[in-house]
Amino acid sequence: MNSPSAVPKHSYIGRFAPSPSGPLHFGSLMAAVASYLDAKANKGQWLVRIEDLDPPREPKGASEQILEQLNALKLEWDGEVLYQSSRLENYMQALNDLSERNLCFQCNCSRKRIKSIGSIYDGYCRNRMNLDTKGCAIRVIADEIDLEFKDLVHGNYKKNIGTEIGDFIIVRRDKLFAYQLAVVVDDAFQKVTHIIRGYDLIHSTPRQIYLQQLLNFPTPLYGHIPIVVNDQGQKLSKQHFATPIDAKEGPELIHRAFVLLGLSPPKGNKSAPVQEQLHWGIKKWDMQTVPKLANIPEDKPAKE
Ligand code: GLU
Repeated sequence: MNSPSAVPKHSYIGRFAPSPSGPLHFGSLMAAVASYLDAKANKGQWLVRIEDLDPPREPKGASEQILEQLNALKLEWDGEVLYQSSRLENYMQALNDLSERNLCFQCNCSRKRIKSIGSIYDGYCRNRMNLDTKGCAIRVIADEIDLEFKDLVHGNYKKNIGTEIGDFIIVRRDKLFAYQLAVVVDDAFQKVTHIIRGYDLIHSTPRQIYLQQLLNFPTPLYGHIPIVVNDQGQKLSKQHFATPIDAKEGPELIHRAFVLLGLSPPKGNKSAPVQEQLHWGIKKWDMQTVPKLANIPEDKPAKE
């Protein structure tokens, strides 16, 4: 007979996985709020993973700042924060696994050549042997198979890995592990079952499912929420000078995120403490009402 402790306590594990390229802005807050609400509405765990794989792009103190911002907004995570910088050996193991099975190859194509062939790599280095590994990236061989998944917001999404994506990079030329490999290794390690994140990452999902299949990892469910754009249609991001969120404006920010995520919070909620608003949001959360849009303007008038 199974003892009760053998039954998993949480069958839902969600996560928020910011890259510490700066403090949270309103765009990243949307992904935090949506993944948090979906996890809590499903009585699941919500993990936070800091994707600190690219030190040159990480201002000092950004990870701490992000965690402080989440704390101030009462977006409380379960368990310990996982830092990707502590997981390099695990990425190396996955890489060795792929390499022993000849599923990846070194590529020393110049930026100029890559630019000249367009967005899909033409396999030029696949069969070239004995490349000097200095200055080489590593690409995974993209087989011509269709990968389809059912997005929780947008429904079916399909790409042919070979013809529409091509051999993609898993270790960068500067020897840093690429996001695609690290994210797959860690989602499997943390037993993540649901990934709710911005629509800008939907094109990465077939790559990630492909790697999960090669590495024999389970595939989580995915939902991609609209990304917030400024009045020039640009994604809110550090490059476009998005302002870091100010936790003092927490109640208003949470209210605004709810509206953009398709919830209809009562007008009076706008100044209610964030914790109270989050409780309300968990009760009302419904993935079906999240707008099926790629982008949503920051200044979309509130439904009030
Ligand atoms: N670290 C990625 C980012 O901040 C997100 C990763 C993910 O949610 O898969 O854009």
